[in-house]
Amino acid sequence: MKIGIIGAGQLGRMLALAGYPLAQRFLFLDTSADSPGGQVAPIITGAFDDPHSLERLAAAVDLVTYEFENVPVAALQQVAATHPVWPPVEALRVSQDRLLEKQLFAQLRIPTPPFRAVDSLGELRSAVKELGLPCVLKTRRLGYDGKGQRYLRKPADLEPAWNAIGDVPLILEGYVDFEREVSIVGVRSTAGEVRAYPIVANTHKNGILRVTLAPHRHPVLQKAAEIYLKRVLRHFAYAGVLTIEFFVRKGRLVANEMAPRVHNSGHWTIEGAATSQFENHLRAILGLPLGDTSPTGHCAMINFIGTLPGRDAILALPGVHWHDYGKEPRPGRKIGHCTVVAASAVERDRLVRKVLRQMPPR
Ligand code: AMP
Repeated sequence: MKIGIIGAGQLGRMLALAGYPLAQRFLFLDTSADSPGGQVAPIITGAFDDPHSLERLAAAVDLVTYEFENVPVAALQQVAATHPVWPPVEALRVSQDRLLEKQLFAQLRIPTPPFRAVDSLGELRSAVKELGLPCVLKTRRLGYDGKGQRYLRKPADLEPAWNAIGDVPLILEGYVDFEREVSIVGVRSTAGEVRAYPIVANTHKNGILRVTLAPHRHPVLQKAAEIYLKRVLRHFAYAGVLTIEFFVRKGRLVANEMAPRVHNSGHWTIEGAATSQFENHLRAILGLPLGDTSPTGHCAMINFIGTLPGRDAILALPGVHWHDYGKEPRPGRKIGHCTVVAASAVERDRLVRKVLRQMPPR
């Protein structure tokens, strides 16, 4: 089979690398010819909403998937008219809009922070009255890694926040005073088989994921996360990998967002689980039996953001695996990561500290 991947970033590159042992071939569509995916498979260069580029991609492949969430839905629907597209376009449409996403969670009885749609300064004022301060004002669309967000702590914060991001539809969310952030990566195949990875604990800085610890052993939260994940998978008659990010507050899960794709908080599965999220995504969309999602040790994933640490020092650490995406370093840009796999949590934490000591100061 030849699989078309929309987006040739590091997620696309890792998908293709996982697919070669399954004898799959890949073709990317991306706006840039030197995206990471180009190191491992050909790229059609073109805009994601350019019908001609999408037609060229579709004509050359058997099925299409995506690694990038901001693909225009109308463009993808056009591809879906002639080719299987997984995950379902409807899941992408909902995940692109924080309001639709939270409404779906509510419909599926998945707890979320309280939220209100906001389309005017007047609506913002009455929404803040209802939800109370502090709260978080976010753009409904095209927000990721904390972009397009303003924290509202006092009444005087409303107007500047509105002036900064109020030119597009917004959502106001109650501020969740969380104990930690966790996520679950799960997978459903076209044959309806479902598997979930263990939940993981994520640490963000400036809205960008820095460190994932996996597994986050907590049977009660694991059970709840799997129940919520399965509701979403079933709702969309889903195929592929799906990720849901949660806050943990007072020992309970509160859903923040979902991503209909392989996810940064699942990178540890390449070396740290029996089957990686990338291989399972491909198995799922090809209708193959899914692979074991058990962890093979106590793991961590540390993102390299803006600059890489010294490679040789990291490679010298036993149980630490290096991933350089081959991207131009730029502040705030994810350019690589490393995975730690250890026999115990104590040993894992020791190795994480060693890696963090190698990171360039920020
Ligand atoms: P997001 O872009 O929605 O994933 O938000 C990025 C980060 O901002 C999250 O990982 C949280 O650390 C923080 N955040 C987002 N929404 C909320 C909220 N309602 N309450 C508290 N923190 C939040």
